[in-house]
Amino acid sequence: MAQKKAQSNPKKTAEAKGASTSAKKTAEPVKAVPAKSEPVTKTEPAAKAEPEKKAEPAAKAEPAKKAEPAAKAEPAKKTEPAAKAEPAEKAEPAVEAEPAKKTKIAAKKPAAKKAKPAAKKAETEAKKPVAEEAKPAEPVAEVAAPVAEQPAAPVAEPAPAQPQCDTPRRSVAFIGSECHPFVKTGGLGDVMYALPRELVNQNCDVRVILPRYACIPQKYQDKMVYRGEFYMDLGETGRSYYVGIMEYICDGVVYDFIDNQEFFTEGNPYVSLVDDIPKYCFFSKAALAALNYMNWIPDVIHCHDWQAALVPVYLRTLFKDSPVGRAKTVLTIHNLRFQGIYNIPTIRYWSGLPAEVFNMGALQQAWRDANMLKGGLAYADRITTVSNTYAWEIQTPEYGEQLEDHLRYHSYKLRGIVNGIDYGMWNPATDPALAVNYDITNVLERKPQNKLALQKELGLVEDEGKLVVGLISRLTNQKGLDLVNAIVPQIMDGNTQVVVLGTGDKEYEDTFRYYENAYKGMFSACIQYDEARAHRIYAGADVLLVPSRFEPCGLTQLNAMHYGTLPIVRETGGLKDTVQPYNVFNGEGNGFTFDRYDAGLLLDAINRAKTEYFTSRYHWDEVVQRDMAKDVSWANSARQYKDLYLELTPW
Ligand code: ADP
Repeated sequence: MAQKKAQSNPKKTAEAKGASTSAKKTAEPVKAVPAKSEPVTKTEPAAKAEPEKKAEPAAKAEPAKKAEPAAKAEPAKKTEPAAKAEPAEKAEPAVEAEPAKKTKIAAKKPAAKKAKPAAKKAETEAKKPVAEEAKPAEPVAEVAAPVAEQPAAPVAEPAPAQPQCDTPRRSVAFIGSECHPFVKTGGLGDVMYALPRELVNQNCDVRVILPRYACIPQKYQDKMVYRGEFYMDLGETGRSYYVGIMEYICDGVVYDFIDNQEFFTEGNPYVSLVDDIPKYCFFSKAALAALNYMNWIPDVIHCHDWQAALVPVYLRTLFKDSPVGRAKTVLTIHNLRFQGIYNIPTIRYWSGLPAEVFNMGALQQAWRDANMLKGGLAYADRITTVSNTYAWEIQTPEYGEQLEDHLRYHSYKLRGIVNGIDYGMWNPATDPALAVNYDITNVLERKPQNKLALQKELGLVEDEGKLVVGLISRLTNQKGLDLVNAIVPQIMDGNTQVVVLGTGDKEYEDTFRYYENAYKGMFSACIQYDEARAHRIYAGADVLLVPSRFEPCGLTQLNAMHYGTLPIVRETGGLKDTVQPYNVFNGEGNGFTFDRYDAGLLLDAINRAKTEYFTSRYHWDEVVQRDMAKDVSWANSARQYKDLYLELTPW
């Protein structure tokens, strides 16, 4: 698959998409009416208020608006709630495919020429003034801010929580590529959901900026309210791109979705780098332009992972003289493995960033490659990652993914803040997915009932005396699954059951399917993404395996502890920071750990857990209750982020 994708030119791909979008626009004009009729009337007064700036959008808008809405209305039809099922798999091959793509694309440089027909097409469609396109270094939209005539304020969901802290108020814009419950492929989605909500309690004004993917479930699409639109140039494409802003407010957090059907029509957020590089160049630039457009200038812009890593670079170059240019930036690394690497001509073409940022101190990596994350790390005011141990590990060759030198150079602004979990979403006392709800006072009676229900659901032998080992994970090389595969036969002793939930590399999926067949009634391989089932496994299992090769933070061990399930983890990254090893002599600790990446050591840790479970249940139960009582909430971490924001904005 990687090979196939490597052969397509991203520039062509986007043009082709653009073409098809246009076709749709003319084919289905009727759908346009509700979403767009409003803005047309709103932009006209804008032009009167500020003739010079607003004349542009108005001129462009009129013809284009009739066309765009059709495209906008499309997602409603296309939306597939299955979005969550696959993205995790897709993220990995994208990175693995890089080397092949790089050479192919590099060879096809005449991209700028190919862009021209597309640009012309856009011009005829949108009747865009040519003069505007002649200024590539000064993005039009950054300053086009017809704020006065924003549509009516969106309908809010429940009332915002009252801030519970006395530190000064700060405004923060989160920019990232996924966020529960709209779209999630892993831990990033959880963080983008939970941290902003907690920051509201820490006296922060938070806005989360996300792509409006077509895969966002319809029930959320329906709640979004049109906030405005403008046009923006992008890189060397010579075209002007539509940027719509759709808004949804929930629990005091404002979510602004960047709308553009050329980039966000896919069913999943991550497709392949060929598509993703243009998409996230567009997104990063559009997010900043949208802040200017809305005239909402945050104190801090907090961006996440490579998909938003160009934000600090844009901010200090193309946007430095625009209002948003005064914001400070924080870039959080959720997983250093994914960096957004492509050849320099392609990233220059799509980003439009000036030549000087493509040097070895910033975006350039090796001779012909540019690395979006590397650039972001260089330009961000602060870098965080999601645990202390990982912050240290990534400065070493073993975990640094070839950025260790760069990170060591910038270590003065790097720190680790461990993730938490959202207690509203993860609460065994109220969790609607569970067979029986429980809390710390009745966990010992009720957890076994959840175990029996889980065994029944999965077709396992129903016996609460068996030790149920859970594994909930993306099935990729990062997660230590080769260790698990190597020892399954040794842990299947007749008293132990294994439940795997995950999707990912075929190699692992097939191995787990094989084991399900080999150990009927004792091994269950659920090769799927199923949020509710994940909750039931956390509740019904006795232990949860997280033997990762590396783990920036890891959320599954936190979920597990909160549900009274003891984690068995490798001592790396956030796993090391959050799971204290059980000490058989004094009974302290939260779970079972091992250090080196070695199947024998994993087996040993599982055997220690078994011994404790089968021979010392009283002590086991103590650990269950201790884990449930452990504070793994976001409150503490959010305070640390707030301190960081205050450090950056000491006025
Ligand atoms: P990563 O971000 O590397 O995938 P994390 O441990 O940080 O790993 O976060 C994983 C999150 O995704 C957890 O909330 C976990 O419950 C959830 N998850 C992972 N795989 C599945 C799955 N197959 N079905 C449901 N939830 C899953």
